[in-house]
Order: sequence, then C-alpha cells, then structure tokens
Amino acid sequence: MNYNIIFSCLEEIKKNIDLHKEEIEKLDQEIGDGDHIFNIQRGIKEAMQMKNELAPENPKNIFKKIGFKIMTTIGGSSGALFATLLLGMSKSFSEDVDNRKNLIKMFAAGVEDTKIRGKANIGEKTMLDVLIPVSEFLQSYRENSSNSDLAKEVKDIAKEGMLSTKNMVATKGRASFLGERAKGHIDPGARSSQLAIEAICNQFINK
Ligand code: ADP
Ligand code: MG
Repeated sequence: MNYNIIFSCLEEIKKNIDLHKEEIEKLDQEIGDGDHIFNIQRGIKEAMQMKNELAPENPKNIFKKIGFKIMTTIGGSSGALFATLLLGMSKSFSEDVDNRKNLIKMFAAGVEDTKIRGKANIGEKTMLDVLIPVSEFLQSYRENSSNSDLAKEVKDIAKEGMLSTKNMVATKGRASFLGERAKGHIDPGARSSQLAIEAICNQFINK
C-alpha cells in the first residue's frame, strides 16, 4: 500500500459509486432522507482534491488527512462514520509490518472505532453489516492465499453482507424510525460500502 495504490483505489471507488448513483440515491430516499449519495460523492471529491498535497505522504498521513477533511466537511451520519473508519486506520498503521498484514490490522482498527462511534454492531441494518464481516474474514485469512484469491473472497463477503441488510429491521440511523417498513430495502450505507470494497478488490483480482 502506498500513495499511488491509495489514489488509484479512490479513482475506482469513484467510478463504481458514480455508476450506481441513482440506485444509492433511491435506497436512501426509501429508508432515509435521500442525501447519502450526495455525502458520499462529495467525500470522494474532497479526498481526490487532496491528491497533489498528499503526494509525499505515507499511508498513515494520507488516511489521517483525508479522514479529518471528511470529518469536517461531510454531513450525515456517514460522513462522521467513514471519517472515523479512516482515522482509525491511520492510527494503527505501522511502518515495520508487511503490507497486507498492515492493511488488515488497520482496517480492523478502523471498523472497531466505527462500531464505537455509531454505537452499533452487526445486524442493525447499517454499513457495519458489510464492514464487520469483511474485517472478521480478513483477520482469519490464510497467509498463503494470493492477493487475488483474498480479494475474490472479500468481494463475495461484502456482497453477502450488503444483501443481508435487505430483510433486517433497522435499530440505528434514520431507518430505525420506520420499524417493519424498512424491511425489503437494502441499507444505502451498506450498498456504498460494498461498492467501495468491490472497487478495491477488483484492482487485485487477476483478470
Ligand atoms: P444520514 O442518515 O444522517 O442522512 P447518510 O444518509 O449519509 O446520513 O448515511 C446513512 C447511512 O449511515 C445508513 O445507511 C447507515 O449505513 C449508516 N448509519 C447511520 N447510523 C449509523 C450508526 N449509528 N452506526 C453505523 N452506521 C450508521
Ligand atoms: Mg441520509
């Protein structure tokens, strides 16, 4: 993981989110207030605008600076939560660990902080239904698996987590006001998280 990889992942995330713009917008209109796509696209734009300024930085500082930027400029629950994820990842970056282990450790720490910030856990119809299973899987990954195989599995787990939100009742966030009426709709934050993870995984899957 380095500057180039982080920003090429961000490019791919942007493409995948833009491709599903209408769908994400509709999901938040159905069980939220409709602003989720706007928050996500704005967050990605803010991060991409920092590309030149962050050129000499290591991943720790890149995640930290983008996290702070998102925390201070992006609205909605998702702004604070994705910023927390990035800041948590930054905090647990270590210089002396191999790349893959480092990323897995960073992601796990970021997801833990996000759980605390959102006071939420798995099964509450949120982005955490994607982030937690992915983090748990990554922590038990086989050391000898290739990046490509690992990315394929992560992609499937993220998709499964996203789909699992469809028939849940929400106990956190705006959708929780709807009670049973939230059932039948995928959570917008779970969908955007899954699309971001899918975009990153596709970069590592051998074609
Ligand atoms: P808002 O709900 O404030 O309008 P967004 O629409 O940008 O913010 O984001 C909504 C998404 O945020 C939800 O779909 C859900 O995935 C996530 N979310 C909301 N509240 C929480 C929470 N307490 N913990 C984890 N995720 C949450
Ligand atoms: Mg919203």
